Amino acid sequence: KASVTDGDNFDYEEMEDSLEKSRAKSALEALKEERKKLPIYPYREELLQAIRDHQAWFFPASVLVIVGETGSGKTTQIPQYLHEAGYTKRGMIACTQPRRVAAMSVAARVSQEMGVKLGHEVGYSIRFEDCTSEKTILKYMTDGMLLREFLGEPDLASYSVVMVDEAHERTLSTDILFALVKDIARFRPDLKLLISSATLDAEKFSDYFDSAPIFKIPGRRYPVEINFTKAPEADYLDAAIVTSLQIHVTQPPGDVLVFLTGQEEIETAEEILKHRTRGLGTKIAELIICPIYANLPTELQAKIFEPTPEGARKVVLATNIAETSLTIDGIKYVIDPGFCKMKSYNPRTGMESLLVTPISKASAMQRAGRSGRTGPGKCFRLYTAYNFHNDLDDNTVPEIQRTNLANVVLTLKSLGIHDLVHFNFMDNPPAEALLQALELLFALSALNTSGELTKVGRRMAEFPVDPMLSKMIVASEKYKCSDEIISIAAMLSVGNSIFYRPKDKQVHADNARMNFHTGNVGDHIALLKVYTSWKETNYSTQWCYENYIQVRSMKRARDVRDQLAGLLERVEIELTSNPGDLDAIKKSITSGFFPHFARLQKNGSYQTVKHPQTVNIHPSSGLAQVLPRWVVYHELVLTTKEYMRQVTELKPEWLVEIAPHYYQLKDVEDAGSKKMPRGEGRAQ
Ligand code: ADP
Ligand code: MG
Repeated sequence: KASVTDGDNFDYEEMEDSLEKSRAKSALEALKEERKKLPIYPYREELLQAIRDHQAWFFPASVLVIVGETGSGKTTQIPQYLHEAGYTKRGMIACTQPRRVAAMSVAARVSQEMGVKLGHEVGYSIRFEDCTSEKTILKYMTDGMLLREFLGEPDLASYSVVMVDEAHERTLSTDILFALVKDIARFRPDLKLLISSATLDAEKFSDYFDSAPIFKIPGRRYPVEINFTKAPEADYLDAAIVTSLQIHVTQPPGDVLVFLTGQEEIETAEEILKHRTRGLGTKIAELIICPIYANLPTELQAKIFEPTPEGARKVVLATNIAETSLTIDGIKYVIDPGFCKMKSYNPRTGMESLLVTPISKASAMQRAGRSGRTGPGKCFRLYTAYNFHNDLDDNTVPEIQRTNLANVVLTLKSLGIHDLVHFNFMDNPPAEALLQALELLFALSALNTSGELTKVGRRMAEFPVDPMLSKMIVASEKYKCSDEIISIAAMLSVGNSIFYRPKDKQVHADNARMNFHTGNVGDHIALLKVYTSWKETNYSTQWCYENYIQVRSMKRARDVRDQLAGLLERVEIELTSNPGDLDAIKKSITSGFFPHFARLQKNGSYQTVKHPQTVNIHPSSGLAQVLPRWVVYHELVLTTKEYMRQVTELKPEWLVEIAPHYYQLKDVEDAGSKKMPRGEGRAQ
C-alpha cells in the first residue's frame, strides 16, 4: 500500500490525472441530470418518432416544424437526440442560429454536455471563424454560413439533418435558407428538415412547407406580473438603471435581465451601475454585473451563465440576444425599455441605417416571458400601457422587407437562381429593393446587361462580405495593391472598435489616433497605417496600449485578413504590394465604393451625388476638420445627423474613369472646380 509520504512508488501525476478524470466525470454526470430536467426531455421519444415518421406521400422530404418556448431545450437537445438516435452516421447535423454569439455559446454548452472538446465532435462556424474539424458531427452555425455552404455544396450532401433554428427571427439569411432547403428536400428524401421556432404562430411555417406537421413542446411557464410606467420615460437608460437598483434593494432574491440596444449603451449602463453601487458600499448585497452583446470577447461570454453566489444578485445587461437566442437560468426580473436596434433601408435611395426603434408586441411578450421560467416573475416595462396597446406593431417586419438585398442577390445568382421575381420567398421583398440590388450589382460589373453573373461577379461572390467591399478587393488586382486592400478590408470589417478613448485620457487617445492621419490621408489609409505599424512591431500588445488601440480588434483583423488572403488565392488574384502609391489604393476603394460618393456644400455639409441627400463627416473621422471637396465613404450612420463613417478623399476624374456607366462628367463637375481637366475620362 502506498503511503503519501513515500515519494518513490507513488505517482502523483497519475493521482492528479485520475482525480481530474473523476472530477470531469462527475461534472458530466451532473450535466446529464440537468439535461433530464429540461421541458423537452419527456418528449424525446415522441419527437424522434415524429421526425422518423412524418413524411407526407405528396411531399418526398421530411419537414417538421417544432415549436417550444425559449429555454425548453430545442437548440441544445434536439441535435444531441438525433445524434444518439444514429442520424450522424449518415452525415452531419447542422443547426443554424441568426446570431454568432448564440452559435458559439450553444456549441460550447453542447460540447460540455457531451464531454468533448469544442471544435471536435461539436463545433461552430461563423463568418471568419471556423471552429470545426473532420470529427465534427454537430455543427452550430450562423444562418449566413449555411447559406454560403450552398455555394460549395448545392445539395448539402454532407448533412443528414438541417435544423433551421430561431425561425421566428426571420432574418434575411433564414428566409433565403427556407427556400433553398425546401428545394433540396424535394430531391433528397433522406434529408431531415427541422424548422424550430420560439413563438406559437407556427402555421405560417407549416403552410410554407406544404402543410408540414407541427410538433409542440409544452412549456412550463409561471405567471409573470407585468408593470408599466405611469408616464413615458424621457431617458430609458437612466430609468433602467434606477429600476435595477430598486429591484436590488427592495425585491426578494432572483437575477435581473435588462434589455438594451447595443454595446455602447450596455457599457454606459455598466459603468453607471458600478459607480452607484460603489457609492452604496456595504449597505447593499453584492450586485454582479454581466454584459452580453455580439462583440463581447468569448472569455467573458461564459460569465453570464455562472450561477449567482448565495446572497448576491446578478444583473445581466443584454441586447436582443437574450430575447430568444440565449437562456440565462435564474432570471426573475426583466426590465424592458421597449427598444432595439434595427436595420432600416430606403429602397429609393439605397441608404441603409441602423436605428433605435420601438420593439413589437411579440418581442415585448418574449422579453417578459424570460422572467417566468423557473418560478413566478416580474417584468418592468419602461413605457405606458397605452404605448404598448396603441404604438407597438404586433410583429417585427421580416428583415427581407427592410434591408439592402445586394449581397443575397449576388449569392442567389451564383447559385444559378436567375428568376428572382418568381423565387419562392416566404414574404416577398419590395420590388424596388430587388431592383436596387440588381442595379448596384450591374454598376459594380458583377452582372451583365442580361442580369447574368460576370467573371468579376463570380470572384466577388467568393468573399463573405458586402458587394461593394468585395468589388474593392477584386479591383485591387488591377491597381496591384491587393496586399494593402485586404488589410483595409479586414480593418473595416472589424467595425468601429479599433481605437479606444478612455474618459480620463481622451486628449491622449485623440492625439495618438491623429498620428495615423498625418498628411490627411483619409480614414481608410489611416486604418492601413495602424495595421502595418502593428505588424512592424511584430503584433505587439504593448504597442497597442501605447497607441490606444484595442488589441482584441487587431487580432480579429489579423484573422480576417488571413482568410481574405486565402480567398484571394482561390480566385487567383496575386498578393501584390504597392505601399507607396496611395492613389492606386484609393482607386481600388473607389472601384467598390463609387456609389458612396459625396461632394462638399458651401455650408460644410456634403451631398450624395446619385440620390441627393445631405450628410456629414463623422466627428471621429480624420477628415472631419479638413472637409475635402470630394469624398467616398464606407457607411452612413444616423445619430443626431446622418453621418458618413470612414471617409477618403478622391479625385472626381477617377469616377468617370472607373464608373463611366454610373457617373457622367456633369455629375462630377462643379462651378468652382478648376482641378478637373475637361474632357478627360470620357475618352476610353
Ligand atoms: P431553447 O433552444 O429551447 O431556447 P436551449 O437548448 O438553448 O433552449 O437551452 C436549454 C438550457 O440550456 C437552458 O436552461 C440554458 O440555460 C442552458 N444553456 C444553454 N446554453 C448554455 C451555456 N452556454 N451555458 C450554460 N447553460 C446553457
Ligand atoms: Mg434556442
